[in-house]
Amino acid sequence: MENDSKSPDFGPPPQQGSIWPRLWRGIKLRCPRCGDGKLFRAFLKPVEHCSDCNQPWDSIRADLAPAWAAMTISAHLTVAIWHFVFWGTNLPSWQLIIYLCVIATGIALAALPPMKGLFMAIIWAKGTTDS
Ligand SMILES: [Zn+2]
Repeated sequence: MENDSKSPDFGPPPQQGSIWPRLWRGIKLRCPRCGDGKLFRAFLKPVEHCSDCNQPWDSIRADLAPAWAAMTISAHLTVAIWHFVFWGTNLPSWQLIIYLCVIATGIALAALPPMKGLFMAIIWAKGTTDS
């Protein structure tokens, strides 16, 4: 059987070219294979398969790696914001803590989908799925 790009027999991607465009597509929440179809149908719920190239995505599980990455980004940015924005202000401690918790939570929630897209793209590009 001829193996074309629309066939349902998807293995690891061809090892031609750089991996970076594929990872960037994942960060942009697009299909790492074609770059056109959406990667998620809900906040962190991957589509069953790409609407454009038919690549299956529901079998790739990034598990806790996106959460770890989002928390790391959030922690570093929150400390930087605390240092450069709130340092030297006369805010009461309880108010500062509330502000920083809201900021950290917002950054982590904003970073989660791109990090999940990134790790799904890494897993797919390396050809390592749990199925
Ligand atoms: Zn696609």
